[in-house]
Amino acid sequence: MTLRTRFAPSPTGFLHIGGARTALFCHLHARAHGGTTVLRIEDTDRQRSTREAVEAILGGMHWMGLDPDEGPFFQSAHHERHLAEAHRLLAEGRAYRCTCSVEELDAMREEQREKGIKPRYDGRCRDRDPASLGDASSVIRFKTPRGGEVAWNDLIQGEIRFDNDELDDLILVRSDGSPTYNLAVVVDDYDMAITLVLRGEDHISNTPRQIHLLEALGYPRPEYAHMPLLHGADGAKLSKRHGAVSVLQYREEGFLPAAVNNYLVRLGWSHGDQEFFTMQELERLFDVTRLGRSASIFNQEKLLWLNGQHMRVADPADLAKELSWHIERQGLPHPGQDRLLAIIPHFQERSKTMVEMLEKCRFLLVDQLHAYDDAGIAHHYSQALRPAMEDLCKRLKDLEQSLWELPHVEAVFKDVLAGHQLKMGKLAQPVRLALTGTTVSPGIYETLILLGRERTIDRLERFLSIVQ
Ligand code: GLU
Repeated sequence: MTLRTRFAPSPTGFLHIGGARTALFCHLHARAHGGTTVLRIEDTDRQRSTREAVEAILGGMHWMGLDPDEGPFFQSAHHERHLAEAHRLLAEGRAYRCTCSVEELDAMREEQREKGIKPRYDGRCRDRDPASLGDASSVIRFKTPRGGEVAWNDLIQGEIRFDNDELDDLILVRSDGSPTYNLAVVVDDYDMAITLVLRGEDHISNTPRQIHLLEALGYPRPEYAHMPLLHGADGAKLSKRHGAVSVLQYREEGFLPAAVNNYLVRLGWSHGDQEFFTMQELERLFDVTRLGRSASIFNQEKLLWLNGQHMRVADPADLAKELSWHIERQGLPHPGQDRLLAIIPHFQERSKTMVEMLEKCRFLLVDQLHAYDDAGIAHHYSQALRPAMEDLCKRLKDLEQSLWELPHVEAVFKDVLAGHQLKMGKLAQPVRLALTGTTVSPGIYETLILLGRERTIDRLERFLSIVQ
């Protein structure tokens, strides 16, 4: 049987980092085992589900490289089918109509609390004659087996058992005619031929109910793997208050999808003591059964470190895609793909994030500089350097465009240094300030080549007019 996993988010908000981790594990486990991924948007809660959230989920998954093999399917589209299965159970005597009012249920719970019993539906409508119920408003409840237990061998958590008497008769169809989560999930998982249900451990308590339900419906049982949740540095379950939790916010902060994926995988999964993994490696090596059981702590520092590692070795074409996105986002002029591919390798080693890379190569993207590091100028420039800088500017002007190459630029520089009896550092820093506005850039010759002849000369002249 081929493996089929699904990611089943509810579209009530953006794709947060915990959800993204579930999507990632579904994807990697499927890839490593020749399986298929399905994306199912669980939009049955019409009040809280939004189109924007669906877009944010699809956008987040796409950015991470987790586009599903099948889907997105929308759970709400299968409404009739969910109801039909509930009615089948009703007809087969495995479900029943319950007419208990809210007041009645409240009173029942109150009584149970007083007696020190765990509050739960006591099944009082189970054996009523359906004919006696008339038109009374009702829900459909499942007849959970009484006595005995339900157990499964969780691929991550090991064996899990629940006493059936712990589980009450869950509602399958609400009084407004809408199917509940447990019914919809079980029917959809079956219809989509899902063989592995991989989800957060907050769903463990649903699993015994879903197993009973699918057995009553005559469906085969998938395997289950419940992943430990992510916690923030303070040990609490990861939530919005831990800062950037939408995956797309990580994009905005300049992280690479490969680094985010690598980081998320390493939270709880290991392969020897290897820290750095490419997506291709993960798609070959990952196995959900090797996930640890304890909650993982999200640590932004480590993510930053990994991002730097990925930036260094990334294919410039992949970085160009991200850099283009950041350029556009900042409203900067895009220099064209070829030029980006020429620029990027000079900054890969120098930047830990794409935001940093953009800052560092910004001087190459803008027509003119609008700001200079004044402290840098005060430190590195003095009138005594003006003759040398003017000379350099003139000599560079004499260099034809066709000779604007590293060895020629270097020769001009060296000549000027010799003529003015200056050391390289003395001239390079003010030139760097003139060309980039800052004191940090790639090697000075490379900087000139990257910037181009015209802009170099313009900027030197402008600088000399400013520092009069
Ligand atoms: N829609 C559920 C959620 O977002 C997931 C259901 C499942 O994976 O079974 O938590």
